[in-house]
Amino acid sequence: LSDRLSEAFKNFKGQGRLDEKNIQDGMREVRLALLEADVNFKVVKEFVEKVKERALGQEVQKNLSVGQQVIKIVNEELTLLLGGEQEGLVLKGKPAKIMMVGLQGAGKTTSAAKIALYLRRKKYKPYLVPADVYRPAAIEQLTVLAKQLDMPVYPSTTEMNPVDICRDAIVKAEEAGCDVMLLDTAGRLHIDELLMEELAGIKAACSPDEILFVADAMTGQDAVNVAATFDEKLDVTGVVLTKMDGDARGGAALSIKSVTGKCVKFVGMGEKLSDLELFYPDRAASRILGMGDVLSLIEKAQSVMEEGEAEKLTEKFRKAKFDLEDFRTQMRRMKKIGSMGSILKLIPGLGGLSKQLGDIDMPDKELNRIEAIISSMTMEERKTPKLINPSRRKRIAKGSGVELADVNSMLKNFDQMSKMMKKMMGGKGGMGKMPQMP
Ligand code: GDP
Ligand code: MG
Repeated sequence: LSDRLSEAFKNFKGQGRLDEKNIQDGMREVRLALLEADVNFKVVKEFVEKVKERALGQEVQKNLSVGQQVIKIVNEELTLLLGGEQEGLVLKGKPAKIMMVGLQGAGKTTSAAKIALYLRRKKYKPYLVPADVYRPAAIEQLTVLAKQLDMPVYPSTTEMNPVDICRDAIVKAEEAGCDVMLLDTAGRLHIDELLMEELAGIKAACSPDEILFVADAMTGQDAVNVAATFDEKLDVTGVVLTKMDGDARGGAALSIKSVTGKCVKFVGMGEKLSDLELFYPDRAASRILGMGDVLSLIEKAQSVMEEGEAEKLTEKFRKAKFDLEDFRTQMRRMKKIGSMGSILKLIPGLGGLSKQLGDIDMPDKELNRIEAIISSMTMEERKTPKLINPSRRKRIAKGSGVELADVNSMLKNFDQMSKMMKKMMGGKGGMGKMPQMP
């Protein structure tokens, strides 16, 4: 999607007024891109109309091209469509209860454990409750994850009734001194009246603070209809969109929000328990528009970093003093997080780099190459990349065993990234502040 949209507006050069013609042209591409991203066609239609209406007759701002102006409007409307503000969990109950619902395989069990880990980092004491009694493996799965996280888990068995489990678990959670419970419920392959009744029963028995509908982002359009049904029956409070690390096109997030009115609160970015991110509509919109999600990247890096260190890094971004040595340090650190692939995609420029090399499946190899290149530079060069003239580039290429073109494109990408970071950190409305990571 992002590529399509940035392409769509490349042709939008020049200044002037936004008129039917140039808006029409740009919006045709936007419409196609959104449909391709699996956004519900009704949603696309409304969205395109809204943007057109807003754009029409607007004076193009001085420092923007016509294309940029339209992108700005598309970006703002996209952010609104995705929910506007980031919505966190609202936990009031004592203990608070979070009920996971959704189809089989959507990622309920995994997400329950991920959210438990997220909450523990926020100083909560989570209690896990397996209430999917139809498959012994389901109870086992959550129990194993609980063990892995060293968290208490309710000793469910397949003979028990899910409503009884949840009711009794409240008592057990309190006894264990826990303040938040995660209720992992059963799913089916398709919507099923019996299941819905069971879920409604659990809801009635323990009035959850949050009922999170878990949707597999890869299922696209289907997820929307399913979400609508679950919402009708259970009045869900939010959405967890899983498997966004795959080649999911993000269209589901757009559609679910506008069809149900319920916000995406979390995104699953991988199978590991740490692969969970808060969902920020503005960043998601930027990502869709191809700006690269620098802020998510920074947050991710921050979670494996000391606090003071993160602040220093932010300061460097802000002052555009982020140099190649910092870059290398961060890359090494990111390796520890494991999912280099998702991180590379988040860095403006580097996503392109991975495509250029036709090596998307092996991002670690690329990372090693970049590390090798930087390691062949002198400290002076790392601190002041401007110094790196053609002859130095040749030396670096030789020293690191890569082609000159690799060095060039690496430096170009770094330059682009620094500019982008500077822009995002220094720029508009509240983005300059470092978000607090739990
Ligand atoms: P449930 O049936 O809804 O409880 O789904 P599970 O939690 O058992 O997940 C189904 C499968 O999806 C498992 O293999 C998970 O590892 C995988 N999964 C869940 N969330 C994610 C995610 O965000 N990314 C990826 N790649 N896989 C996920
Ligand atoms: Mg499950």
